[in-house]
Amino acid sequence: MTERMIVIGGDAAGMSAASQARRRRDRAELDIVAFERGHFTSYSACGIPYWISGLVPERDQLVARTPAAFREDYDIDVRTRHEVTAIDLGRREVLARDLDGGGEVRAGFDTLVYATGATPVQPDWVRDEVAGVFGVQTLDDGAAVLAWLEREPRPRHAVVVGGGYVGVEMAEALVQRGLSVQLVEQADQPMATVDPDMGELVAEAMRGIGISIRTGMTVTGLTERDGRIAAVVTDEGPIPADIVVLGLGVRPNTALAEAAGLPIGPSGGIRVDRRMRVPGAAGVWAAGDCVETLHRVSGMPVHIPLGTHANKQGRVAGINIGGGYATFPGVVGTAVTKVCELEVGRTGLRERDATEAGFEFVTVTAESTNRAGYYPGARKMTVKLIAERPSGRLLGAQIVGWSEAAKRIDSLAVALWNGMTVDEMTALDLGYAPPYAPVWDPVLIAARKAVDALAV
Ligand SMILES: Cc1cc2nc3c(=O)[nH]c(=O)nc-3n(C[C@H](O)[C@H](O)[C@H](O)COP(=O)(O)OP(=O)(O)OC[C@H]3O[C@@H](n4cnc5c(N)ncnc54)[C@H](O)[C@@H]3O)c2cc1C
Repeated sequence: MTERMIVIGGDAAGMSAASQARRRRDRAELDIVAFERGHFTSYSACGIPYWISGLVPERDQLVARTPAAFREDYDIDVRTRHEVTAIDLGRREVLARDLDGGGEVRAGFDTLVYATGATPVQPDWVRDEVAGVFGVQTLDDGAAVLAWLEREPRPRHAVVVGGGYVGVEMAEALVQRGLSVQLVEQADQPMATVDPDMGELVAEAMRGIGISIRTGMTVTGLTERDGRIAAVVTDEGPIPADIVVLGLGVRPNTALAEAAGLPIGPSGGIRVDRRMRVPGAAGVWAAGDCVETLHRVSGMPVHIPLGTHANKQGRVAGINIGGGYATFPGVVGTAVTKVCELEVGRTGLRERDATEAGFEFVTVTAESTNRAGYYPGARKMTVKLIAERPSGRLLGAQIVGWSEAAKRIDSLAVALWNGMTVDEMTALDLGYAPPYAPVWDPVLIAARKAVDALAV
């Protein structure tokens, strides 16, 4: 008998699961229906800032596979503009609203993949009736921002509220489009995913491209003119704005799951086991930005919404649904971004996380260069390491610098994943040639410095 798999959410996690399941089970065995409330499937939300800046000229360049391609090449019945509004685990069916055609569809399932992603945090001062305030999460959100930027009169003053990596990337994109940009951040530093000392280096680079950073400031409201945003109101007075972008982070989109009684973990994401099954709900799987996962260093459940995890988790779910065996072993929290040419990489625990997790640790910061000092283009690179005391085990790392900085974090992520000590790291056989590194790579210099700090 043909089984039915229903996917809620047609992006990274959902469509990875659907494609992997299809590779292992054909249409006669498994009927796959994917509901997506937006217009697109398998798009790169990560590419939105580069589309808005103009670096990536065409929207469709961000779409890896269209609904039509899923239908033709994978025999997956993709229903875009269909929003699932309820899950009935008892009857094993979902209810979906057709957002364009009107009406509702009921669809039964044997297997359900919950992959609804995350939603941007919306402060309570955001009002639907005031146009020009945007959260950026889906390609449809990106299209809405772009349409607003292109309407007349053209917006000239942007306020980005919140300095997470999406806020930072969007601030840069808006500067590149010629807007004057102010970034308002409640904390002392933007880019809270790194420690404040490293965040200050990012802030300097942002100021260097003309972004005005207002730290220690809270947005409390907005003012409007004819239904359009006119200013944000802060605890230090109003800031004029004709476009506002929210960069306050995201929350796992679990509303439907909670209503259906699926278990939610302490981080706010849906609980899953290593194979991406939802415990206590037979035949129900979840993956991507809506789930929580294990942090391999702290041992804590965390919600780290990144595309790299969503794709892997969806793949794991799909392989298992298809009859194979796969597990998702957790994360170490590796992420990279940039502000113009300044690159930022981080992995593992920040000082604050290490303290919260109860570790004793030392911290070192080493300044070096990305290339041999004499080689043209050599520029400063700052590497920060956090190592457990007295074991010397690496707990976290951050890098800020010019070219070749961000992806250098990967060697530190591998060290972290494998539980290496900073002493072991000093002997790592990392590549060296003058155009790529000094003879002592910045990572090795930092590891040596950490060994010295542990000896004190
Ligand atoms: C601007 C930006 C930049 C980013 N940059 C990076 C980066 O550089 N590196 C990185 O690793 N990650 C990055 N990310 C994060 C990455 O895009 C996400 O982690 C990834 O898209 C998560 O995939 P997902 O499938 O879990 O969720 P999503 O991509 O959010 O997809 C969920 C889908 O579910 C649909 N949906 C939700 N509810 C329903 C419903 N009830 N019915 C039907 N459909 C529904 C939504 O419309 C959406 O299309 C970035 C994100 C943004 C917004």
